[in-house]
Amino acid sequence: MEFRQASRLQGVCYEIRGPVIEQANALEAAGHSVLRLNIGNPAAFGFDAPEAVVQDMARHLPAAHGYSDARGILPAREAVADYYTRRLPGQVEVDDVYLGNGVSELAAMAIQALVDTGDEVLIPSPDYPLWTAVTRLAGGTAVHYACDESAGWLPGLDDIEAKITDRAKAIVVINPNNPTGAVYPPEVLDGIADLARRHNLMILADEIYDKILYDGALHHHIAAAAHDVICLTFGGLSKSHRVAGFRAGWLVVSGARQHARDYLEGLTMLAGMRLCPSVPAQHAIPAALADDSLDKLLLPGGRLLEQRDRAWQTLNEIPGVSCVRPQGAIYAFPRIDLGLHPIHDDEKLVLDLLLQEKIHIVQGTGFSWPRPDHLRIVTLPEADELEVAIRRIGRFLNSYRQ
Ligand code: PLP
Repeated sequence: MEFRQASRLQGVCYEIRGPVIEQANALEAAGHSVLRLNIGNPAAFGFDAPEAVVQDMARHLPAAHGYSDARGILPAREAVADYYTRRLPGQVEVDDVYLGNGVSELAAMAIQALVDTGDEVLIPSPDYPLWTAVTRLAGGTAVHYACDESAGWLPGLDDIEAKITDRAKAIVVINPNNPTGAVYPPEVLDGIADLARRHNLMILADEIYDKILYDGALHHHIAAAAHDVICLTFGGLSKSHRVAGFRAGWLVVSGARQHARDYLEGLTMLAGMRLCPSVPAQHAIPAALADDSLDKLLLPGGRLLEQRDRAWQTLNEIPGVSCVRPQGAIYAFPRIDLGLHPIHDDEKLVLDLLLQEKIHIVQGTGFSWPRPDHLRIVTLPEADELEVAIRRIGRFLNSYRQ
């Protein structure tokens, strides 16, 4: 008998680790070197974890052999609660914090606990595709609201409101945004919070890039605008602390918990069903939250800023390519003028680029973007290497026909 995947996997996709990756792996196995600009993995580009974080985890290893509390060890949950109390005074207690094996696991748990078949979750387009994938996996429907490239990729409140039906249960806000790099101003967050309040939606705020900001951009937690709305804020160590492999993340509940007792019971049960998150990684959290070594990477002369600048400039020099300047995160999401570069299938474009140039990027449609006219490029390589790679992408595009 042939074993087939469960039907609930139909329509679930995650292109960041999608089919093109098998080709990339095959090329590497055949001795080619592939530049992996498909996944935001800082360690792969020479970003070292803060020494204090690694030391602290190593120091605690001998005492990290057993399962912990399902929601996580107390010192790490206290450190997360402190971090948010400083930003959201009076809103977060230690019992509001759930630790997980990265935001990826917690996003799946949060949606699984909420969504019944046919329930709708509002998700930005473009999105970080995890949210669409976990919604579909839970039997829900991902309803995409548009972010407007001509407005610095900010979401349009009218478009969101027009898409809210009586099946809508939650709205996902990714800020700073992957893939666009947009950082939302308070008035946009107030507007979304107001929609959630009026339409009884849970806010799911993916803020994993809250500290990776450029040009003096300020990050505002949407939870601050949503005291009276149930809000789950997600964060973790993968990006800002350069330890994606540790798998350390958190979810913090704030706002109208009194209307979510049953939901939180379900979430706690799901947390218990995975027994606990990786205990060694939890021990890295207090030291990481006390570490500020990221700051120098973002200031003038800092690697992340320099790379963002170089990627943005070089992309905009390619004929028929334009890119909104990312204000946060570690990606660029350039637009390709389809009048100049007639592309019908952006997955094929990405595959052909990989085969010809040995550069792996992800097609815009992999981010729930409706047209084949965007690409996502990770801005983690050193600036010179990034510039060379982007110039090669430009030359490829100029001669590419579908
Ligand atoms: N959320 C966003 C917006 C991301 O870009 C990523 C990873 O790229 C994640 C969540 C997943 O993070 P984690 O490593 O904590 O699972």
